[in-house]
Amino acid sequence: MQEKFKLGVDFAIEMDAKDELKSYKERFYLKEGELYMDGNSLGACSKDAEEALLNMLEVWKNNKILMWNMEDGKYFKYPQFIGGLFSELLNADKNELTCTNSVTINIHQALATFYKPTKERYKILVDDLNFPTDIHAAVSQVKLKGLDPDDAIKVVKSRDGRIIEEDDIIDGFTEDVAVALLPSLLYRSAQLVDMEKVTKAAHKKGIIIGWDLSHSIGSVPHDFKKIDPDFAVFCTYKHISAGPGSNAILYINKKHFGTEPGFAGWHGNKKETQFQLLHKHDPEIDADAWLTGTPNMLSMAPMEGIVKVYNDAGIENIRKKSLLLTDYFIYLIEKRLAKYGFSNGTPLDHNRRGGHVALEHEEAYRICLALKEKNVIPDFREPNVIRIAPVALYVSFEDVYRLVDILEEIGERKSYEKFSDKRALVV
Ligand SMILES: *Cc1c(COP(=O)(O)O)cnc(C)c1O
Repeated sequence: MQEKFKLGVDFAIEMDAKDELKSYKERFYLKEGELYMDGNSLGACSKDAEEALLNMLEVWKNNKILMWNMEDGKYFKYPQFIGGLFSELLNADKNELTCTNSVTINIHQALATFYKPTKERYKILVDDLNFPTDIHAAVSQVKLKGLDPDDAIKVVKSRDGRIIEEDDIIDGFTEDVAVALLPSLLYRSAQLVDMEKVTKAAHKKGIIIGWDLSHSIGSVPHDFKKIDPDFAVFCTYKHISAGPGSNAILYINKKHFGTEPGFAGWHGNKKETQFQLLHKHDPEIDADAWLTGTPNMLSMAPMEGIVKVYNDAGIENIRKKSLLLTDYFIYLIEKRLAKYGFSNGTPLDHNRRGGHVALEHEEAYRICLALKEKNVIPDFREPNVIRIAPVALYVSFEDVYRLVDILEEIGERKSYEKFSDKRALVV
């Protein structure tokens, strides 16, 4: 890796000149002089997302309730239309995808559907580095079945607090595990998990497995035809940039079409008979069966613009640039920042790395405050991680170079010392 990069700014400028994705940056709202490195928490707003949202307002304005029947029912069928836009990013069938609710509720929906504990097989397997909401959902589902989470939640432990070893997960696949719920990419360290290997091992043991792709979607290609998971969920406001609280995606493998949804609702009914308003539920025979209430049109509309941008750029190209950007940043950490106590907490192996870098420092929290003072937006994750996400569509090599200049100055001058260590409400 060392040979590939050079220290000077000329190198960054040269890389940007060669970058085939560089024109996409203009389509995002970025502030002059600000370095936005937090697109893995809340993606930047794009003109395409804005246009699609404004268009949805026009549709409502001009058509009111008639909008549901317009354009061959496009808006009535919008959850699957939007879900289907992700089929390229996932190599999944369009009707295995639908757009609804939040990730948390979609996990509840999937567990309510697939978690059917028996006396012998009653555990949900999770890991100790997953995002908290996934664990909260699993614990409440276990409780709803009248089981004790201390017994029925099986936690695979990380050996070092950064990485979950796939072999440790697989060792956890014992006969008493009913369902496994795991992240594709660990939100703190950016470790990419070998989903195909783990899924195959789960299936060998008769375990239903679901993945939370919230941190990998839009930065890492996924091949669901190969991985073949039972279900998956992900949010669309991180790398995908569909806006704060935009609806999440639920993927249901077609082999489960026809399974009764755990939470039924009238929008999961077959569309042809939905407006007969019968009390007997007659679910769709695809992912739409798992819909519940009226689709959140304004929270989905931005995706009609932005996911097309991702498809147009091509997820393989995005991945290629993203790896170059994170490689380059890691190189600069070693060369210029290590002497100030910074280190890289993200796997070096490309097969194990997602789209952000965990920059570790014992003063991480206060350094984040010092960065914000310098118009750099990162985020902080307890206890010592500054997450830096050079999102391929709107971060340049020169941006990374400038970021390192600022980090170097903060390290050298210890300018973080003037800030309080007391955590803000949102960090
Ligand atoms: C961001 C994120 C979520 C968010 O869940 P919401 O219910 O949409 O707020 C869930 N899981 C993971 C792994 C995440 O990174």
